[in-house]
Amino acid sequence: MAWQVQFRVFRSSRGEVPAHFDPFTVEIKPDETVLDGIERIWAFQDRTLTFRHACHHASCGSCAMRVNGVEKLSCVTYIQDVTSDGGTLVVEPLRNFPIVSDLVVDVSPMFHRMHEVGMPIIRSAEPLGKPENFNCFENCIECGMCVSACPVMLTSNQYLGPAALAAAQRTIAEPRGVDVRSIWQLADDENSVWRCHTAFECGEVCPSNGDPAGAIMALRRRLILERIKSLFGRGILARQRGG
Ligand code: SF4
Repeated sequence: MAWQVQFRVFRSSRGEVPAHFDPFTVEIKPDETVLDGIERIWAFQDRTLTFRHACHHASCGSCAMRVNGVEKLSCVTYIQDVTSDGGTLVVEPLRNFPIVSDLVVDVSPMFHRMHEVGMPIIRSAEPLGKPENFNCFENCIECGMCVSACPVMLTSNQYLGPAALAAAQRTIAEPRGVDVRSIWQLADDENSVWRCHTAFECGEVCPSNGDPAGAIMALRRRLILERIKSLFGRGILARQRGG
C-alpha cells in the first residue's frame, strides 16, 4: 500500500533564484527509494527539477544527496527507513561542493584532487577505449559523500578532503608506477593530513566501507615514521630534502 510523503526539495540555480525548499506530496510505497520519489516528482509534478542519477544500484555514486540532513545514495535509501506514512523528507544537495542547480553539485574539485594524488578516474589516456585503462580507486565510487559529511571541509576549502587523502594513502601504499614524491609533499601539509580532526563522519556515511578516516590515520602514521627515519638521514622525506 502506498504512503503519502511530503518531499521538501532544495531548489537553487547558480544563485539566480534565492535558495528555498519546494514541497511535493508523493504517493510512494515504503519499499521504494528516495530516488524513485524524486523521479516521480520530475515526471509528474515539476520537469524543471534537476538531479543526477545513473546506475540505480549504488555503483556510480552520482545520486548522492542529503536526506534529512544525512548523506545518502538516494537509489538505495528506502522510504520506510527515512520517514513514515504522512511524514516529511527533506532532500538537499551534498555540502562542500559548488551547487550547479537544485540537487546537482559540481564534483569536479574532488576529481581534480583525486588526480593530484595519483588516482585519476582515467588512469591512462593511451590507448583510449580499452577497459583496463579505466580504473577507479578500489572500493571508492567517488560519490563525494565523505566530503559533504566532513566538518573540516565546512571550515576550509583548502583542505584536501577525505576522499583524496584516502586515495593518497592507497597510492603511497601501492604506487603501481606512480612517482609518489609529490604526493608525500601534498599529504604532509597543514591543509592535508594534519588538518583532519578525526571526527570520523566520513567513514559513517561512506557507502563502500572505504574508511577514509582510517586511511588518513594510516597516512599520518607513515608520515610520522618517515620523520623519525629522517632524523637518522634515511627515508623518503629525508631524500626529498637532500638529507
Ligand atoms: S571514500 Fe566513500 S564516501 Fe568518500 S567518495 Fe569514496 S565511496 Fe564516497
